[in-house]
Amino acid sequence: MSEIDLHTHSTASDGTLSPKDLVWEAKRCGLKAIALTDHDTTSGLKEAKEAGKEFNIEVIAGCELSVEYPYGQMHILGLWLPVEPKKLESYLQFLRDKRHYRNKEILKKLQRLNIPIDYEEVKKVAKGESIGRPHIATVLVNKKIVSSVQEAFDKYIGPKGLAYVPKVKLKPKEAIEILKDEGATVILAHPFSLNLDPQDLKKELYTLKDWGLDGIEAYYSEHTKEQTELYLKLAKELKLVISGGSDFHGKVKKDIKLGVGKGNLNLPYTIVEKLKAFRCERGLPV
Ligand code: AMP
Ligand code: ZN
Ligand code: FE
Ligand code: FE
Repeated sequence: MSEIDLHTHSTASDGTLSPKDLVWEAKRCGLKAIALTDHDTTSGLKEAKEAGKEFNIEVIAGCELSVEYPYGQMHILGLWLPVEPKKLESYLQFLRDKRHYRNKEILKKLQRLNIPIDYEEVKKVAKGESIGRPHIATVLVNKKIVSSVQEAFDKYIGPKGLAYVPKVKLKPKEAIEILKDEGATVILAHPFSLNLDPQDLKKELYTLKDWGLDGIEAYYSEHTKEQTELYLKLAKELKLVISGGSDFHGKVKKDIKLGVGKGNLNLPYTIVEKLKAFRCERGLPV
């Protein structure tokens, strides 16, 4: 049984529960703390924090940024952000503007495949300001063009799909620095997605640490036991702090449950305690 989940998404980006409902779900699952880490937006943080007070759940304010990386997917989490981070916001606004442009490009490609979708339909599905491929996938499912979100990614909008368009991203160093500037603890999300062997991952972690990386998400729904053990070992060696989360998205990722992921996560509150101690040593608020 998990006590925490430090990687979750709400309707502010591509999750399907509102920030308040997400915090209620955390309560229902018996969690003590969650971090809300929406893609490219902090707009759900205020509601989540208020719900945290109402339901007596500790809510950590965060966000997730995709960054440029040639060998796989690199995502960076910022934890313990201010609820309204002023400097970060201008970068997030830039990224969301690029998302609109990209989404429209994807729709143009779908149009050429005789699948007409109006951007207004996508906006209606997306309840928040950070709009992305899962919303387009949901429209494709609703229109019965595909039978699942997975099929939408495989056939159309995933990297091998017919209507794929890449996303504009920040550079890793830039993203780390912007988040650190806001006082966040910066975590490499789901390190498996870098697609590196252990030696190369270690080298990459040294580089990221030089740029300000604080920790890695050793515990994650998609990690095998062996991968988790490797990430814990590397964290110890490089003096990186450890985080863990499910990457809960609600209905668009049906197999991932809050707190426990695919049933394989067991995240104790001591993870949060250690993160807090790490922050206190650096004079950062918790
Ligand atoms: P975007 O930020 O618009 O590029 O969308 C990326 C998001 O799509 C990821 O954060 C996941 O939540 C989701 N995603 C990516 N691949 C898949 C997939 N195969 N099935 C379901 N969701 C996916
Ligand atoms: Zn997502
Ligand atoms: Fe991610
Ligand atoms: Fe995520």
